[in-house]
Amino acid sequence: MQDKCFVFPTIDYNVLGHRQEATPWQLKDICPYCGCVLDSTNKTVDHIPSKALIDKPYPANMAAIPCCTSCNRRFSLDEEYSSVLLECVKQQSFDSNVFSRESIKRTVLHTPSLLETVRRRVRFESEDRFSIAPDDDRFKAVLLKLVKAHLRFEDSMFLIRDDSIRLSFDSIDNMPEPDVTRFLTPFSSTLLPEVGSRALESVMIIQEDNTRQIRYCSPWICYQKDTYSFCVAVTGDKVKILLHGFLCVSAELFESTN
Ligand SMILES: [Zn+2]
Repeated sequence: MQDKCFVFPTIDYNVLGHRQEATPWQLKDICPYCGCVLDSTNKTVDHIPSKALIDKPYPANMAAIPCCTSCNRRFSLDEEYSSVLLECVKQQSFDSNVFSRESIKRTVLHTPSLLETVRRRVRFESEDRFSIAPDDDRFKAVLLKLVKAHLRFEDSMFLIRDDSIRLSFDSIDNMPEPDVTRFLTPFSSTLLPEVGSRALESVMIIQEDNTRQIRYCSPWICYQKDTYSFCVAVTGDKVKILLHGFLCVSAELFESTN
C-alpha cells in the first residue's frame, strides 16, 4: 500500500537537514497544545511524530517542538494506547502473538489492560473493514496532536483549537480508488511557503503543461517507509498523514486562530 505513495512526489525525511529544533523565529515559549507559557520549570521536548507511533531506528534528525510537561505526560498514555489500536487494526486481531511490532508486544505484555480497552473500541466488520468507536477521544486526541505539531513545525502555526480542525480518517482499503488518488496526491498551491518556514525546505516546483502555470507542490515526506508519511500544505491549513501504510488521516483547518 505504501508503495502507491511513491508514484507521487515524495521526499525521504532523512535527506532533510537539521530539524531537531523549531526555527529561531518560531514562537518557542508557548505550548502548542494548551497555550500555556513555557519556562524552565515546565518546558520539555515533544518529538514529531511520537516515538510510540514509529519503529527503531529513529531518524537522526527527528523533528521536535517545545511543549509543556503536562501535555507531554497527558498525551504519552494516549499515544501508547493508539499504537496498540493501530497494530490490532493492521493485524486484524487482538492477539499479541500475531503483532509484528516488537515494541507493541512489549507494551501489551507490560500493560495487558490496553488490549481490553482497544477491544472495546474496535470492531472488525469483515476482512479489511473495521470501525473505531466514534467516541474514542483518546485516538482522536493523538491524531489532532499530530496535526497541530506538523502545522506548528512546518508552517509555524501558532495555537490551533481542536474545534477548528476538520478531521477524518479511513483505511486505504475501504476507500474508493478516486479517493485514494486524491489522498495520495500532494498539496499544491500558486503560493510559496513563508520565507524561513520549514515547509520551504521541501517545496517542489511543478509546471502544469496545459496552462504553463507554475505551482508549488508540498511533497509527501516519507518519515519511515510503511510506518509514517506526511504531507503539509504550504498554505498552512491542511495536513495528510499515512499511518502504518493503511490509515489515511486528513485534517483541514476551517477557522484559523493563527
Ligand atoms: Zn501544554
